[in-house]
Amino acid sequence: MNDLVTLNLAPGKEKKIRGRYPWVQRGELLPGPRPEDGALARLVDHEGRFLAVGTYNGASRFPFRVMTLEDEAVDEGFFARRFKAALAARERLVTDTDARRVLFSEADGVPGLIVDDYAGHLVLQVRTLGAERLRDAWLPALVDVFAPRSIFEKSDMAGREEEGLAPVTGPVHGDCPPVVRMTESGLVMEVPILGGLKTGGYLDQRNSRRLLASLVRPGQKVLDCFCYTGGFALAAARSGATAYGVDIHPVAIESARTNARLNGLEVPFVQANAFDFLVEEAASLGQFDWIILDPPAIAKDKSKRDSLKWAIWKLVCRALPLLAPGGRLVVCNCSYQLPLAETIDVCRLAANDMGKSLFLEGVTYQDLDHPAPVTFPEALYLKCVWLRTE
Ligand code: SAH
Repeated sequence: MNDLVTLNLAPGKEKKIRGRYPWVQRGELLPGPRPEDGALARLVDHEGRFLAVGTYNGASRFPFRVMTLEDEAVDEGFFARRFKAALAARERLVTDTDARRVLFSEADGVPGLIVDDYAGHLVLQVRTLGAERLRDAWLPALVDVFAPRSIFEKSDMAGREEEGLAPVTGPVHGDCPPVVRMTESGLVMEVPILGGLKTGGYLDQRNSRRLLASLVRPGQKVLDCFCYTGGFALAAARSGATAYGVDIHPVAIESARTNARLNGLEVPFVQANAFDFLVEEAASLGQFDWIILDPPAIAKDKSKRDSLKWAIWKLVCRALPLLAPGGRLVVCNCSYQLPLAETIDVCRLAANDMGKSLFLEGVTYQDLDHPAPVTFPEALYLKCVWLRTE
């Protein structure tokens, strides 16, 4: 590993690296030689003691990201070991499905790389220049360890720009179908890999969909706002509820309708802006026993936190009058920037403004195959607040 450029960390900052926090911020590196952007580098403390091997990108808010706390080669063998560990950790974790997140970036020791497995078809996202430059090391390991039917790349997220990466979408390995079918809790679901959002599905909400399915009673009325391919609505319908789904994305609505058909369920899916739907069309459907609010992550950084708060406040204010007495509201927030306590507080404000009481019945997080290192709070991004009205 002697050929790597050595970066010196500012005094005091070594504690967080030894404490397994994986990102170094701008200004935390002492002046000195720099490798080219995207290259591997060695991180040492101000006294020259080894801390980590990781990737460097001077253009990023986080110029150094830890790959390993060992002084080891980051090569195909390294990634194969990490991938096997990720697989072993997930053994029997999620059992009622043939889809799961197999690699979750820092949580699996592979910063910048996210991989979801839909019935043997892998969909990957590369989030950092460092991970991109290591492609020749991780791609063969991915093929070898997971033996996938195909691999498709869906690296079209906003964060890539800051890393100096253009969006990339396309086949990487094998014969990549644009749409695949998976099963979840007994439902057959089509996953629009090419035309959909993110990797094609939201596996992180699986446990919450399952909880909803176990709580709804036959005949109850459920409104799934931001339904994507219909996960919450279909789970509720299969439990005997009368469910409706709303999403703005035409591909999502098309898949949701297909998914209803595939499972012999009758769920009207409406393509609309959920904010408008709640004030315009929803009232004509009568009162709801359940409303699910699962808006997208509009707060990618701190500056957007207020707009996310405002959006959630508005959604809750609009949903509350539509709930039957004792009706339930599930407010989901997939943005790390707005933590749980603040999410609950926004619900409190909305309830106050609408003159309603709300009871917090529980909280769910991203499902088990999206683990969050406790030393890296950024990884715990999804929290869903389960509320009941009077
Ligand atoms: N609940 C879904 C995941 C939702 S992801 C599941 O369990 O699979 C967020 C969704 O919000 C996306 O499908 C996106 O198309 C949708 N969306 C974004 N803005 C919207 C808006 N203003 N109105 C309705 N849907 C919107």
